[in-house]
Amino acid sequence: MTFNWNRLTVTVSAKGKKLIKLDNDIKEKRNFLNITYFWTLVIFIYILFHIDDYIDYLVSAFYNMFTITTPSMPNLSLFNRFMAFLLFFFVLAIYWHLNTLKKLEKKFNDLRINVIDSINSGFCYHNNSCTCKDDYILFMRKEKGIDLIFK
Ligand SMILES: [Zn+2]
Repeated sequence: MTFNWNRLTVTVSAKGKKLIKLDNDIKEKRNFLNITYFWTLVIFIYILFHIDDYIDYLVSAFYNMFTITTPSMPNLSLFNRFMAFLLFFFVLAIYWHLNTLKKLEKKFNDLRINVIDSINSGFCYHNNSCTCKDDYILFMRKEKGIDLIFK
């Protein structure tokens, strides 16, 4: 199903295209987050399997802060340190990307409601009864999965 954007007024088609772009951005962001969730889980499971090493290290690090005499410090391997850093980094990344996803979703929904509200005025370049509006609503729903009927 193709849609001829030229028959719509400039504003209507610009808003529609922007809506599709935002929708794609949201889908991309969700896919990216799903991949990030997966790898975060993998790292987390690795750390769980080596939790004794981490706890030994943290306990003695804590102990060292309050004592002058330094007991022998258990060694946390470079790879274990790297995995802990990675987990921290991934959690921060998830936080940041979830925040942008939320902003994108809000932007998308505000624009979607704006389109619904303005769909009855100055929609296309035809004067009398045409099917532009219905074609547009159907195209957006069937091809793009964007609902322009219900708020
Ligand atoms: Zn029309």
